[in-house]
Amino acid sequence: MAALSLHLDSIVDFLVRMLNTPSPTGYHLEVIETVEQAFHELAIADLRVERSPKGALIITWRGERDDAPRGLTAHTDTLGLLVREIKSNGRLKLHMLGGYMWNAVESEGVTIQTRDGRRYRGTVVPVKASVHIHRGAGDEPRKQDTMEARIDERVSSAADVRALGIEVGDFVFLDPRAEVIANGFIRSRHLDDKASVACIYGAFRALRDAGLRPAQTVTAVIANYEEVGHGAAAGFPPDLRELVAVDMAAVGEGQNSDEFSAGICVADGGGPYHVELTGRLRTLAEQHAIPYRPDIYPYYGSDGEAYWRAGGAAQVALVGPGVDASHAYERTHTDSLIHTTHLLARYLLS
Ligand SMILES: [Zn+2]
Repeated sequence: MAALSLHLDSIVDFLVRMLNTPSPTGYHLEVIETVEQAFHELAIADLRVERSPKGALIITWRGERDDAPRGLTAHTDTLGLLVREIKSNGRLKLHMLGGYMWNAVESEGVTIQTRDGRRYRGTVVPVKASVHIHRGAGDEPRKQDTMEARIDERVSSAADVRALGIEVGDFVFLDPRAEVIANGFIRSRHLDDKASVACIYGAFRALRDAGLRPAQTVTAVIANYEEVGHGAAAGFPPDLRELVAVDMAAVGEGQNSDEFSAGICVADGGGPYHVELTGRLRTLAEQHAIPYRPDIYPYYGSDGEAYWRAGGAAQVALVGPGVDASHAYERTHTDSLIHTTHLLARYLLS
């Protein structure tokens, strides 16, 4: 059995670079560029990196064999916001991209990007934000109508805001607040699913460093529309036999997943994953002493299911690093990144 060395520092560096690159669903060019460059820099012979018409990255690595092609997928798109309305007082009403709780973004710093590329800072605040003015402001439900963006500019009318170049439909990026703590915890928004993209990168790097190639040709779709349900619906060869979707394991009350192992999802909101491929991944983890947690994610869907619903015929499984407080201020640990990376590398070699 080949020894593999997993290069944690480069995985974490790449992850932080992605976390600091804004990429709400619908705004993918910058982050796809970041990911494309990282895979190019691996300088793997026989690695083909292309972009699909819709902007996803399609990375193909020729394997020892090609009679049972495999797929991997993870997504770069994240939660975010759009400008919904420019209010007469110079505040912005917001439209959510992806599904989350409004209170998960309360008081978060944001960057508003205009169509011509100007950027302005601001904050998501409740309309009734000050306890000195509004009695019971804390009891107000947090929803679209009770929340707004305050722009850090001298604006007090819609005309003032439009003079900055801001218009309905502009993207609003949530500050990721990425922080790597010395004991291995990583705290940030958007670990879903940039942590998994970093794991795929780490697995490719581990094979490269060991002078190995995948047992079967593998196509990795680094998707840009997962949070809205159709990320990896396209991009794989028609004769694909297996697809391992890599996305966060849901950590929290009642869950078996944690931040220190590889998560293997048996079933989620879209039903069970493929029994044989899931079983093989669990056996691989056991053979290589990789800590893993089987689990069910009740209100969750993945690009594996997007592929199936689009007519994909391959077996599909879902693995990924454990993420606490998903779609809020998320957290994982480097142990989870390493074990997920290791599992992916062993899968590619198997
Ligand atoms: Zn995800």
